[in-house]
Amino acid sequence: METSHIEENKSLNFIEEIIDNDLKEGKYDSILTRFPPEPNGYLHLGHASSICLNFGVAKKFGGKTNLRFDDTNPVTEDTEYVESIQEDVQWLGFEWADIFYASDYFDQLYDFAVQLIKQGDAYVCDLTSDEIAAQKGTPTEVGTNSPYRNRTVEENLQLFADMKAGKYKEGEKTLRAKIDMTSTNMLMRDPLLYRIKFAHHHRTGDKWCIYPMYDFAHGQSDSIEKITHSICTLEFVPHREVYDWCIEKLGIYPSKQYEFARVNVNYTVMSKRKLKQLVEEQHVAGWDDPRMPTISGMRRRGYTASAIREFCDRAGIAKREKINDISLLEFCVREDLNKIALRRMAVFNPVKVIISNLENEILLDIENNPEDETTGNRQVAFTKEIYIEREDFVEEPQKKVFKMEVGKTIRLKGAFIVTCDSVVKDADGSITEIHCSYHPDSKSGQDTSGIKVQGTLHWVSVQYAVPVEVREYNRLFKVENPNAEEGDFKEYINEHSLDIIPTAYAEPELAKATLNDHFQFLRKGYFYLDKDSTKDKIIFNKTVGLKDGFTKK
Ligand code: ATP
Ligand code: MG
Repeated sequence: METSHIEENKSLNFIEEIIDNDLKEGKYDSILTRFPPEPNGYLHLGHASSICLNFGVAKKFGGKTNLRFDDTNPVTEDTEYVESIQEDVQWLGFEWADIFYASDYFDQLYDFAVQLIKQGDAYVCDLTSDEIAAQKGTPTEVGTNSPYRNRTVEENLQLFADMKAGKYKEGEKTLRAKIDMTSTNMLMRDPLLYRIKFAHHHRTGDKWCIYPMYDFAHGQSDSIEKITHSICTLEFVPHREVYDWCIEKLGIYPSKQYEFARVNVNYTVMSKRKLKQLVEEQHVAGWDDPRMPTISGMRRRGYTASAIREFCDRAGIAKREKINDISLLEFCVREDLNKIALRRMAVFNPVKVIISNLENEILLDIENNPEDETTGNRQVAFTKEIYIEREDFVEEPQKKVFKMEVGKTIRLKGAFIVTCDSVVKDADGSITEIHCSYHPDSKSGQDTSGIKVQGTLHWVSVQYAVPVEVREYNRLFKVENPNAEEGDFKEYINEHSLDIIPTAYAEPELAKATLNDHFQFLRKGYFYLDKDSTKDKIIFNKTVGLKDGFTKK
């Protein structure tokens, strides 16, 4: 049977190679992967990479992917997170075949546990967590068998039923697998399968007071769904033996676990636990603060899903952890936005320019995006009074810097060439007005003036400009790897990660901006409407600058 559905010449990552081989050997008719987030926070860029991998391989090999909420820890989980996770996966451009919750399997998992007890493969243990830890041994010293290890099946069944019935307090009893206290793999030394927890679960409510541990829930959930390739990150390598042990003892569908290295990025942290601290201690405005490496933060900032997918592709799937340069992500964003962003003009720090020889406004036709003709043109009014950036006027000429200067000519973007005649200053010597005259025969696209100019400035009409707030972002942390520094990671937060320009002047077209549009403000960078923007207060987030900071290493 022809099983390989992939373009032959595209190189495969090591997970794809495994799958390709499995299909070629006829191990599976089709593959099924899953993305299994714990709903205890918002997804971040690392999750994006796991999503791209899980959904990506399934797509590549004609298989499917489930979204499964790994909701076995009632204390930290919440429906807010469940909803945001679904939104983020869809926004990234992926469709799940089925959506499941590990909590859907609680009854089945309980039955599995009973089966293990009946087989003599699990027992109820009365040791406290400290005692269990003390008896666990060390990597070089074997552990000690629990005194409760040899309880009879009948006694274990009764005690486990009593645990479920709420007869014991938290920590009083656990269910443990009976494996091998001398194993070189510490996790195989009679791992916990169930613990008592009197907590309200976001889906099962108060039905349960015992909850399965990761090691008992994950593999069995995979197996119940008949996941063929269960892909997770490297910290689960030692768990694989437990995963296989449970499946084998239960005699259920043999899902297989494969591991890849976590994707990290410098100048940020990528752990929901840490990101949650930033939110709760108000170092940022929320999970979707544009400085956050969360999918929702990046979306709010104006990063595109395709740029994030491209980043995940380029960062690749590795067997060893490394830290990716954030500028690779910014490079991907810039590349994508260059293709799709509508070009607009906005002046952040205005100085007024009066076009002395212009009486009536002139309507200009300016292209929306030179990279994409289908976006057409927009009309922009050239008026007697305009704003340019204060720093675009110089009193002292500078070499190779093309700015406005008394006696010199320069082009205004999409409009005319102007000659600067004079300036007006206030008592402090600060310029309040610049006087220019325009050359009527120098209209952009129809220039017959023969005047040579170097430099083009952006501008907006004073009469029609709309005031907008602009938010610019810097790195959230001052150091490349806040996790590796001494002390708390929050000591390394960059206090200057947000700059607000309360009033910038934008061309009137920008008043129509929606969350579907991405913009390039000429000479300024890429910008995206903030989701809190209103008609009366328009807010733009700077997505990324224009300069390519990424250099291939
Ligand atoms: P965190 O420490 O941020 O909470 P987690 O691994 O506990 O991460 P889960 O919700 O359990 O988060 O993760 C869902 C899936 O995403 C898992 O398969 C996990 O291995 C994967 N994942 C999490 N972080 C990364 C990362 N940085 N790079 C790649 N995959 C990741
Ligand atoms: Mg986790």
